Formats: sequence, C-alpha cells, structure tokens
Amino acid sequence: MRTIADQAEALAARRVSAVELAEQALSRIDAAQPSINAFITVDRAGALHAAREADMARESGHAQPLTGIPIAHKDVLMTAGLRTTCASRMLETFVAPYDAHVVRRLRDAGTVLVGKTNMDEFAMGSSSENSYFGAVHNPWNPRCVAGGSSGGSAAAVAAGLVAACTGTDTGGSIRQPAALSGICGLKPTYGLCSRYGLIAFASSLDTPGPLAHDAHGCALMLNAMAGHDARDSTSLVRPPTDYTRDLMASASARPLDGLRIGLPAQYFGDGVDADVARAVDAALAELRKLGASTVDITLPAVRYSVPVYYVIAPAEASSNLSRFDGVRYGHRAARYTDLDDMYRKTRAEGFGPEVKRRILVGTYVLSHGYYDAYYLKAQQVRRLIADDFVRAYASCDVIAGPTTPTAAFACGAKTGDPVQMYLNDIFTVAANLTGMPAISIPCGFGADGLPVGLQLQGNHFDEARLLNVAHRFQQVTDWHRRSPARSAAVSEVSVP
Ligand code: GLN
Repeated sequence: MRTIADQAEALAARRVSAVELAEQALSRIDAAQPSINAFITVDRAGALHAAREADMARESGHAQPLTGIPIAHKDVLMTAGLRTTCASRMLETFVAPYDAHVVRRLRDAGTVLVGKTNMDEFAMGSSSENSYFGAVHNPWNPRCVAGGSSGGSAAAVAAGLVAACTGTDTGGSIRQPAALSGICGLKPTYGLCSRYGLIAFASSLDTPGPLAHDAHGCALMLNAMAGHDARDSTSLVRPPTDYTRDLMASASARPLDGLRIGLPAQYFGDGVDADVARAVDAALAELRKLGASTVDITLPAVRYSVPVYYVIAPAEASSNLSRFDGVRYGHRAARYTDLDDMYRKTRAEGFGPEVKRRILVGTYVLSHGYYDAYYLKAQQVRRLIADDFVRAYASCDVIAGPTTPTAAFACGAKTGDPVQMYLNDIFTVAANLTGMPAISIPCGFGADGLPVGLQLQGNHFDEARLLNVAHRFQQVTDWHRRSPARSAAVSEVSVP
C-alpha cells in the first residue's frame, strides 16, 4: 500500500481507516528517521486529529479522492500552528500564523498532514546537505544524498513513509531529488500553484508542486494544489482541470501515437554519466514502442542556463532574505551593542554558509556598477533561453532528456565545491527560467543500484500531457514500483 491509489482504494473499501494509515505513517517515520533524517517536525497529535476527521467525513459520505491520505509538506511551506523552519537556525522556533495556499487546499481536500520534511536551508542546494537539522540520506543507500532541495520529501516518499509530499522547485528542487530517490516529481507551470505562504527564495522562479510514486499520484495532488489565489499576484486564473482525466485505461497498444518527442543535442552530449544515458535511451525506446516519434532539436542558449540562474536566483534571494533581521522573524542574537551590531550578529548566527554565499553573490550582481553587466544581462539571456523553447515546441510536443547528469552521489562529495554542486542543475534550471512545466520519472538504475530519472518538459500549461506521457510509460514499466526495501544496500530502512 505505497501509492495514493493503493491507499485510496483501501480506504474506500474500508479495509483500513485513516487513523490506521496515519499511525502506520508515524511509526514508519520514527523507524526511518535515524537513517534518512527526512523529517524536521512530526505532528503526531495533529495527524491523528485530521485522520479522525477524515474517517468521519467518509462515514458521512463526504470523502474526496485524497480524504485520509497521509502526506507531508516541505518545511518551506507555512503551516498554521506548526513550526516552519526552512531548515534554518534563523527560523528554528518559528510557528507560522497561517497556512500556505497549497497547504490549505490540501487540508480542504482531506489529506492528513503528518509533518514537515527536511530540505536545504531556504531551499538553496542540490543535495539536502545544507540543513541546520543535518543532511537527508538516500533510502536506496544512506551513504548517498537524496538530492535537493526537497530531499526530505523525496526520501519520505521513496522510503514508503508517506505516499506523497509537497516540494518547491526554484531550479530543479522537485525534479532533482525525485530523480535521485527513484520517484516522480512535477514542477508545474509558474503561476499554476500559488506561492502565498511559501517562504520566498527567488520569487520569479519559485514553484510549489507534488512528489509521489507515480504520475497518477502527482495528478491527484496537483488537482488539489492548483487554483487561483488573489493573495499571489502572479497566480493565474485558469479553467478548473482534472489532471487525471487523460489517465484512464486506453485500449490502444500505441497510446502515444502522434506524440513528437524533441531530443535536444544539448542534453545528450558530454558530461552525462554512461549509466544515466543508457537508462534514458532505453526509456526513449519504450516511448517509441508506445507510438511516439522522436525528433532532433536544438536549444542553443540553454548552455547559459546555469550561469543565468546563478545570477538571477541569488539576486532575488538577497532581496527576499533581507526580512530576516532579528526584528520581524525568528532568531535574534543574544548580545549586541547597537542596532547595526544586532543585524550583523543575528544574520551571522542565523544563516548557514550557502545562504550567506547567495546573499553575497546576489548583492554583488545587483550593486551599482555591476547591475548592467550581470543582472540585466542575465535577464536578457533568460529571454533568449525562453525563445529557444518556444521555437522548439513548433516541431515537438514534449522535450525529453536526463533529469540529472549523474545518479545520487556520496554525502560530502560536493559540499566543498559549490560550482560542482551547481552543475547538478544543468538540465533542470531552464524550466524555471521559462516558467514551463517539467516532470521527472524513474526510468532505471545505475550499476550501483541507484535510481535514474527521465525528465519530460512541456510548453506552458501542458501538465496534463506530461502526466499522460509519464503514465503511459508507467503502464508498461515498473521502475516506479521498485522500493528500496528490495535493495541490498539498505538494511536500516525496512519498508513492507
Ligand atoms: N539547486 C538549485 C539551487 O541551489 C535549485 C534549488 C531549488 O530549486 N530550490 O538554487
């Protein structure tokens, strides 16, 4: 009973109650916490209360598709009355006064919130090692990273602790940990899910989205999360969509007939690990068998996406994080001489090294004399990258490639070299710069038994198509059904 569909079916058939599912999730979280450290806060009382309400809703005939399903939120999303830390000392004891919009919507959909997942501090990182609460470890091999920055969410789903989680994706933070942990993660179109109550990192890039075992689970979560919110000025008004609508059983052996998959030369060259390239090629062969055709395309400006991202994201972060001043939120230094000294000591103590690095880079690229050369130039190149994608979608429907250049790497392997860490984002950041949707789905394993992810990108608002392609692939493959319990590498985490 790992997927949302499995759990929903058991709940509907009264084979299990929401309270029993919540208790099971809570005990699995306790058992896995020492080895994978996926959670920052567990809300036992809140979960059991919500589960009782879910059971009552079902008894009175008011069950929705997600009623009674235990989930967890990335600790960057505000949860009323429950601590929200952003994995930072700065917010170690911060209790949010209100729910993020997506949190509220998932509560209204009947989900049972069991806790808040570990992550890179303020969502800055690609490995979930930059956490004040310690690194997240990969359930497939605890000596490796789970990916970042939504690493706790990805590890929690992969280890079978909960069937789904929320994450946020600013440059890859849903897709990258999904790939490294062997699950599905969807970054929706910018503006589809409200950012209200999402603690801001880079506001023009931040995107909440779901992580689950399969495309169907992501679709159910997105149904609940998407929707207009007047409190986020970039939230879009869209007609209500059922993202599961295309996932019905198809009689055709070639359900992807007519689908054109673009293969950018830039995603299949040097720098992609041989195991990753092999798994992605095998996945493409599978998609062709389902009726899809592949076309070679080119995205010439995409090679600038990492440098462009690492100018724009820190610039926005340096502005957003100025609010953590020891006055308004969270940590304040215990001893100081005057106001300036209080600011300085509070921020020196409250932020970890990667957050400080981003603030320094961001302040530099926005400063008088450098603004035109760095920030303005990056915005111009951002437009060129978007133009490449718009052009590409004239000749294809989706774009495929690896989600990451390698499978999960050893904990500590890249912490000393920020540029090596940033290069993990080479295939994911473009979707944030363009605001377009993208999904990562499991497509195989490397020689060391670690999962590999296939990324499918689409044009604005093409979530339903991406989910459909992913779902068709998952009907003929079982990568998404593998669980770390069957991997010899993990003895600490046992998942029934
Ligand atoms: N790895 C990228 C960064 O460190 C993306 C993070 C994210 O998507 N939140 O900024």
